[in-house]
Amino acid sequence: ERVTSVNQNQDEEAGEFTLRPKKLEDYIGQKTATDNLKIFIEAAQLRKEPLDHVLFYGPPGLGKTTLAGIIANELGVDLRITSGPAIDRAGDLAAILTNLNENDVLFIDEIHRLNRSVEEVLYSAMEDYALDIIIGKGPSARSIRLDLAKFTLIGATTRAGSLSAPLRDRFGVISKFELYTIDELKKIIKRSAGLLDIQVDEVSLEAMARRSRGTPRVANRMLKRVRDFSQVKGSGVIDLAITNATLKSLGVDEYGLESLDRELLRLIIQRFKGGPVGIDTIAASIGEDRVTIEDVYEPYLIQAGFLHRTQKGRMVSEQAYKHLGIQLPEQG
Ligand code: ATP
Repeated sequence: ERVTSVNQNQDEEAGEFTLRPKKLEDYIGQKTATDNLKIFIEAAQLRKEPLDHVLFYGPPGLGKTTLAGIIANELGVDLRITSGPAIDRAGDLAAILTNLNENDVLFIDEIHRLNRSVEEVLYSAMEDYALDIIIGKGPSARSIRLDLAKFTLIGATTRAGSLSAPLRDRFGVISKFELYTIDELKKIIKRSAGLLDIQVDEVSLEAMARRSRGTPRVANRMLKRVRDFSQVKGSGVIDLAITNATLKSLGVDEYGLESLDRELLRLIIQRFKGGPVGIDTIAASIGEDRVTIEDVYEPYLIQAGFLHRTQKGRMVSEQAYKHLGIQLPEQG
C-alpha cells in the first residue's frame, strides 16, 4: 500500500489518530509556522487556487503529519499520505498524481528519500501541474504532456539541507518545526488526557511534560503508559507517584533522557574526555546511524543543555557530568 487516503471524518486507526487535532485552532504551538499558514490558506481560498507547496522540516514526532491533515481539513480537500521510500518508480508517482482531485493535498513524508528519477517527475508536477511522459524508444520516441489537477504538495523531512536544491526551490513555503516548550506540552497532554477520559493532576502533567523531550509523540505515548500503570496498580487517577513509577520502569530519567542518550553522553566523557569529538566517531562507537543521532537524539540533548555543537565536534556540558554523577576533570 503506497498511498493512504485519509477521510478526515473517519478515524483511521482508533487511538492515535483520534488524538490528532483537526482544526488549526486546536493545534498547539509552532506559532510561526501556523500564523503564516493561516494567511496563506485564506489567500489561496480567496483566489480559489491551491495552496502553494509547503515544506516542513524538523525532528520526528513534532506534528508535521498532523499539521498537514489540518491544512487539508481547513482547505476542505482530501489528504493523501505517502512517503519517499514508498515510491520506487516514476510510474508510481505518476499514478498517485493522476488520482488527485483539484486542490487536494499530497503529503510526502521523508521526501528527502525520493530517488532521482521520481524526483524529476515531481519537478514539472509541482511547477506546471503536468507530467512529461516519454513514449516509445530510440528515434521514434516522443514526449507527451499530461495535465494534472492543481494540487498542493506538503513535503516533510527531518532536515531541509538533505533535500536537493532544485526540489527545495520548488516549495513556496518552508517551515521549520521547533521542539515544544514545557507549557505547550502540558497543554497537549491535558488535551489528550481529556480525549482519553483520563484524570491527571497538575504536578503529573508538569512531570510528564518535562520528560517528553519537547516532542508531542513522546508525550502522548508516555501518557498512555502512565494510564496503563494507574489502571493496573493505582486508583485510576494519575498522580505523581504513578507517573514517577512508570517513567522509572521505562528507563526515562528526570530530564527525559533514555538509556541511549545517557550512553552517548557517557561515551563522549569517558572515551573522548568530554569532546570535542566528531559525529562520525560517535556514531561508529555507539553503533547508531549518524543521521539518527543528529536528527533524533541530538536536538533534545542540545536544547536541554547536555551537549554543544562546536566547529571541532560535539562537546558535553558540565551539566552532563553532574547528571551522570561523573566528576568534572581538573581544568588546565
Ligand atoms: P511528524 O510528522 O512530525 O513525525 P506526526 O504528525 O506524525 O509527527 P504524531 O507522532 O502523530 O506526529 O504526534 C503524536 C500526537 O501528538 C498526535 O496524534 C497528536 O495528538 C499530537 N500532536 C502533535 N502535535 C500537536 C500539536 N501541535 N497540538 C496538539 N497535539 C499535537
